[in-house]
Amino acid sequence: MNILSSLQVKTEAARLGFSACGLAPAAPLPKERAEALHRWLAAGMHGEMGYLERHASLRLDPTLLVPGARTVVSVALNYYPAATPPEGGFRLARYALGLDYHDVVRQRLRALLAAIGAENDGRPCCDTAPVDEHYWAVRCGLGWQGRNGQLIIPGAGSYFFLGELILTRPADHYDEPSAPRCGTCSRCVKACPGGALNGDGTMDARRCLSYLTIEQRGPLPSGTGRLMGRCFYGCDRCSETCPWNRFARPTDVEAFAPRPGLLDMTDEAWLRLSPEEYRTLFKGSAVKRAKYEGLMRNIREAAGF
Ligand code: SF4
Ligand code: SF4
Repeated sequence: MNILSSLQVKTEAARLGFSACGLAPAAPLPKERAEALHRWLAAGMHGEMGYLERHASLRLDPTLLVPGARTVVSVALNYYPAATPPEGGFRLARYALGLDYHDVVRQRLRALLAAIGAENDGRPCCDTAPVDEHYWAVRCGLGWQGRNGQLIIPGAGSYFFLGELILTRPADHYDEPSAPRCGTCSRCVKACPGGALNGDGTMDARRCLSYLTIEQRGPLPSGTGRLMGRCFYGCDRCSETCPWNRFARPTDVEAFAPRPGLLDMTDEAWLRLSPEEYRTLFKGSAVKRAKYEGLMRNIREAAGF
């Protein structure tokens, strides 16, 4: 069998603009991680994200997702934007300002597969398949999962999209997992407006503004608007408060630059956004996930209507 060169994979990943890359043997997740997932699901903390429950067994074992899998490659792509909407006005979470990350990351993952000659030897994933991406990023040595649930890369912070290649080829070298470095800090837990963070890296999605403004259909829970702080799509609070994000540097990935017109939007313009303007503004953006009606629901809630 053709063995992957770990050095070649990392060299090509860096050439393609990924900020971090690591490799680990594909194997079922440890018992403790599996038990934690089942406890979390049993407590209903996944809210209406039923797919997490339906595909739990695949999430816990990449060799079920890709039969014959031998290697998981984890990569991180910086999305920290150089410019954001003015303070005090309506705004979106930083990750949502540019083009849809699913497309951007997967395109680069496909290029990585081609560069290492593994087009037919596995599957690229970016939040598009049941993969515990934070577990694999930690296992591949990229960083640790903070109390805010995010992957924190030492010296770089957490404004990264994660992606994986699940490959049917073994590699000549595998990375060691990263150790946690949150220490005694709990700033994100205290800063979370909805009290969603459990303190162990898990969260109660039903209390998270990111979940409520993106995933939840129908009316928002009473009082949500007061917690939103004028951010009507997603929430950056637990990232902004993390001291490791002082290392964040603007991305040079063109696709993650704010969509044309987004930074010029005033509160009034958001409140009278038409379906046509919505389509133009968010063409190719992940914000389309919330649909026009969902976005307007959020904007009205943030405005206190
Ligand atoms: S995204 Fe916002 S609401 Fe969700 S856990 Fe982080 S701080 Fe809390
Ligand atoms: S704010 Fe503190 S506890 Fe939270 S993820 Fe960052 S370092 Fe960890």
